[in-house]
Amino acid sequence: MEYGVNEQGYYGDFGGAYIPEMLYPNVEELRQQYLNIINDEGFKAEFDDLLKNYVGRPSPLYHAKRYSEKYGANIFFKREDLNHTGSHKINNALGQILLAKRLGKKRIIAETGAGQHGVATATVCALMGIECVVYMGEVDMVRQAPNVARMKMLGARVVPATSGSKTLKDATNEALRDWIGNPVDTHYIIGSVVGPYPYPDMVARFQSIISEETKKQLLEQTGTELPQYVLACVGGGSNAMGMFYHFIDDESVKLVAVEAAGKGVNSGESAATTALGKEGVLHGSRTILMQTEDGQVVEPYSISAGLDYPGIGPQHAHLFKTNRGQYVSITDDEALQAGLLCCQLEGIIPAIETAHALAQLEKMTFEPNDNVVICISGRGDKDLDNYINYFGY
Ligand SMILES: *Cc1c(COP(=O)(O)O)cnc(C)c1O
Repeated sequence: MEYGVNEQGYYGDFGGAYIPEMLYPNVEELRQQYLNIINDEGFKAEFDDLLKNYVGRPSPLYHAKRYSEKYGANIFFKREDLNHTGSHKINNALGQILLAKRLGKKRIIAETGAGQHGVATATVCALMGIECVVYMGEVDMVRQAPNVARMKMLGARVVPATSGSKTLKDATNEALRDWIGNPVDTHYIIGSVVGPYPYPDMVARFQSIISEETKKQLLEQTGTELPQYVLACVGGGSNAMGMFYHFIDDESVKLVAVEAAGKGVNSGESAATTALGKEGVLHGSRTILMQTEDGQVVEPYSISAGLDYPGIGPQHAHLFKTNRGQYVSITDDEALQAGLLCCQLEGIIPAIETAHALAQLEKMTFEPNDNVVICISGRGDKDLDNYINYFGY
């Protein structure tokens, strides 16, 4: 079975570039150039240097002793929460800004929901001295005010999206409109393994550093580079794709992807895309998405802003359909409890997104010698209000 992208930009039935005619030149330029640029030695040297000295990589692979005792296996945490800006998102933002520079772009645009991707993008734009415009739903700007302030401090202009539900999908529409109007000087930094080809493949490559490091670190710590399981949460799917990337062709490694069930898969307030979705086109690619009978996108819900997305990247749709990956979902309550457990057993406050992946451990059974790696996609500082409201601290 082939799990990577083919030359037409497809993963099995999924992927492609379903874009309006007016975006074709932008996406085509990227398609023609991205592999040459990111395989160039000069690019690699600059990317590696910044990953090391700016982001703080390699991120540790931590053998979580008390988790291991509790769950009866060797549990490892891949610590993306320790990256600069607090999550895996910086890996992709950094890769794309270096690519944009080499394409001669003078201006960056991005969309953001909770503001995490917007902050990562504003950060790398400050680093490179490039103009940055972030589109954000007006409703999200109110809900995520501290991240709006961060982006502004970093020098970005935050533009409210005032149409529709005034959230992520409306911000995405505004960003696309901007890109159509500024095709020559502007690069659009998409924040996950979604969007038209080549974005899903490009973002997966930038995040693949997660599994590349994990393999080396496992070999050093356990004497074998292949674990029995890797787990990650899935919003669009970029930290999961990074965690899966170098294990995909080793079928002995079980890939577990954890979506947000919200208040329950059948509650009407959920973001469990594979459980509830059907095949269709979302944000430029053919994938699986939550939609009504007549194809309208269903508003997703999750307590965690990063998982509150009605689709998944096309490669995930393929891994799901071919059964290469196991796709499961975790409710808000289960995630919050798992987040607190992680604080109390390991002294690590995880992002609520990450807590979804941790909660899945409760539902699995292991052999004592199993090596299990969980991607700790981000830190929980940004989620303190939610934790406080729930637990009443
Ligand atoms: C944005 C985010 C996610 C979800 O995005 P993916 O593209 O699915 O990885 C998960 N965890 C954290 C901490 C995030 O900020």
